[in-house]
Formats: sequence, structure tokens, C-alpha cells
Amino acid sequence: MRFSKTFVKTLRTAPKDETSKNGALLVRAGFVHKEMAGVYDYLPLGLIVLEKIKNIIREELNALGSQEVLMSTLQNPEPWEKTGRFSDQEVDIWFKTELAAGGVLGLAPTHEEPIVNMLKNYVSSYKDLPLYVYQFQTKFRNELRAKSGILRGREFLMKDLYSFHTTEEDLDGFYAKVEKAYAKIYDRLGIGDCTYETFASGGIFSKYSHEFQTVLPVGEDTIYHNDDYSTVLNKEVYNDEVLNDLGVAGQHFSETNAAEVGNIFKLKFKYTEPLGLKYSDEGNEQKTIYMGCYGIGVSRVMGVIVEKFADEKGLCWPEAVAPFKYYLVGIGEKGVEEAEKLYKGREDEFFYDDRDARPGEKFADAELMGIPYRVVISDKTLATGCAEVTNRATGETKLVGIAKL
Ligand code: ATP
Ligand code: MG
Repeated sequence: MRFSKTFVKTLRTAPKDETSKNGALLVRAGFVHKEMAGVYDYLPLGLIVLEKIKNIIREELNALGSQEVLMSTLQNPEPWEKTGRFSDQEVDIWFKTELAAGGVLGLAPTHEEPIVNMLKNYVSSYKDLPLYVYQFQTKFRNELRAKSGILRGREFLMKDLYSFHTTEEDLDGFYAKVEKAYAKIYDRLGIGDCTYETFASGGIFSKYSHEFQTVLPVGEDTIYHNDDYSTVLNKEVYNDEVLNDLGVAGQHFSETNAAEVGNIFKLKFKYTEPLGLKYSDEGNEQKTIYMGCYGIGVSRVMGVIVEKFADEKGLCWPEAVAPFKYYLVGIGEKGVEEAEKLYKGREDEFFYDDRDARPGEKFADAELMGIPYRVVISDKTLATGCAEVTNRATGETKLVGIAKL
């Protein structure tokens, strides 16, 4: 991508009401635009990052045999009324809207009810199961506070996967596979070493659920971990009874802040029973389907990555999710000529700063945007047939043969 051909502009200052580090840096670097509190637009560079995160998740979920769909945002109240969740007393973050012809609709805060309702048209026999369905979808939640940039949006991107099974053992087996897939996803996203599977409260059908919590000073959750992080609990279940139950009573636990980047739940019959999602078994007997749900906050993950790696100079993307691998700058006539040559045919790898601007300005933007390697070609570097390559994260600089890039 050529800098001169995008409408992206870096800004010296962030919006006055943007108090979060991730929001301020993403706006300044031209990755997102803030519409209002908790509502953001993704600009070309921000969208590439989001798509890279999605693709990592997609690859790992497809490897489990999951099928991708895209469900609607506008919600028919009917299935939600059957589970009692259309009520504002039950679910206090609904955005609702009205049809011109009369009648209320909801804007999806999540999709358990609609997916169970939808699958009643397609699943009827044990032969149709197990089934794993997921989507990347915009969710709407009327969050009371939205001061954490893209960590907590009123409109945000979630990946939600739902699984359906004939037996509890089958649900347990798939749940364990998702636990492994999530660990792999967070590893690939660059936050694996500080993201922990965490016990959280369950529901009517299971004792615990699990969250994936990334240790982060500005994270809104409080977690407790033992010294080697082999047991991590959300504050909501940190009590003597649970510690006993998990066999870790007496161990030393420390408190820390974390951001919930994912959440997995054995729902069993919680939604399939009230909505009547059943299958007929080998003996033609009607049975209720077991269900699990598995979320990842895609846009929140992007914010967590920003918070984790950014420094005083700006963003700093891990290579796997960076919008481009290289930030290219040519200096002087010869340098520009060689930069043009290098750029040709590699538009996805290089963000080419071809603007008519001073090198100092380009270097500052390279740091602000956090692209992993800055590549500078000038008369000086060309004297040895090289480009100067600077690692954004370490600041380390070396000369690399142009043919090697
Ligand atoms: P939280 O406890 O942070 O409010 P939640 O427990 O309500 O989240 P889920 O309904 O399980 O979250 O949603 C799945 C995932 O979506 C969460 O693990 C989180 O990463 C992300 N998420 C939830 N709410 C938001 C939000 N308002 N903005 C961005 N991401 C969110
Ligand atoms: Mg939560």
C-alpha cells in the first residue's frame, strides 16, 4: 500500500475524550476513527489487522470441522421471549428498535437464541450431529461505561462458535478441543504467554465456565492466580468453597488485573430445551440436544494487543497481525528508485511511505504505526547494495542485502 494513495493521516493528538491508550494510539496512527464513546470505525490499516486476527481464528476453528455462517443483527423477539432473555430486567444491555409498521426488534447482543431457533429447520436426527457453527458478527450492547477504547465497545466484533451434540461426553470432548484451539489462537496472536484459562461462574447446567484472561493493568477483570499460574480464578469464584473444590486450598494466590479475551461455556440444555431443539436417536426417540458456546472478542483482542506491546513511540504489532511486514522509505533519487523497484508486486508486504515529506516525519510515523520492520534505502545504504532494516520492537538496526528482503 502506498501512503500517498490512502486517505489515512496520522494525527499529532487523539480526541480529547479518548482516555484509553489503545483508543488514543489507534486514532492517532490512523487505524480507527472514533464515532462516539464505545463506537469506532475501522480504517484501511485497522481493517487489515482485524482481518488478520479473524483469519487466525478462522483457520483454527475450521481445523476442528466448524462451519462459518453470518447471522442477522436484527432480532425477532420471539425466541428470546421463550428463554426470558428479551426482558430488560434479565438482560440489561439490550439495544432495541421499532418497526415502522409497529413492533419491537432487538439488535443482537449475542446469538444463542437465534442459532438454536434457526437450527430447528436443519437438525432433526442423530445423523445431523455433532455440529459446530460459528460466525464473526457485530454485537450491540448498551454498556453503561465505554471508556476503554476498543476493549469495551457498544458495537463490537465477536467471534461466536456454537456446538451441538447427542451426548454430554461428546460435548466434553469438543470443549476440550476448543480449549486447545484457543490456546493456539492466543499464541499465534502474540498474547499466549500472558493469557490464562480462568475458572469463572457456571450456570444452571455447569459448575464453572472458563474465560481466557490476558494479564493487563487496564483490564477490567480481577483474577487470582497461584504462583505458577496453573490455577487461575475470576474474582467472582474466588472463595474457600471453590478453592477446596479445585484442590488448591492453602496455596498462595495473588490478585491481578486482566482483560477477558474469550469465554467458553457448557450450556447443555439451557437454550435447546426452552426452544425445543431436539433430535431423534437410533431408536427414533426424541431427545434434547446438548450445546456449548465459545466466544472471542475479536476487536477487544486487537485492543489488548495494542495495550500489551505499544510503547512511548506508538503502536508495535506482532508480525502475525501487523497490517504490513515492512515500512518502506526511500531517501534521495537513487533511494527512491530502488524503493519503487522493491515495492513493485509486493504491495501486501510493504507499506510504502512515498509521500513528499522529510525523512524525520516518515520515521516518526513508522514508529507510531508500529509496523514490525522499517526499511530505509538511501545512497549510503546502496553503497553496499543494502537497505537499513530497523526492528520496531527492539530498535535494533542492521544492513540487509536488498535481494534478501
Ligand atoms: P465482559 O465480562 O467483558 O462484559 P461478557 O462476559 O459479557 O464480557 P461474552 O458475552 O462471553 O462476554 O462475550 C464473548 C467475548 O466478547 C468476551 O470474552 C469478550 O472478549 C468480548 N466482549 C464482550 N463484551 C464486549 C464489549 N462490550 N466490547 C468488546 N468486546 C466484548
Ligand atoms: Mg465476562
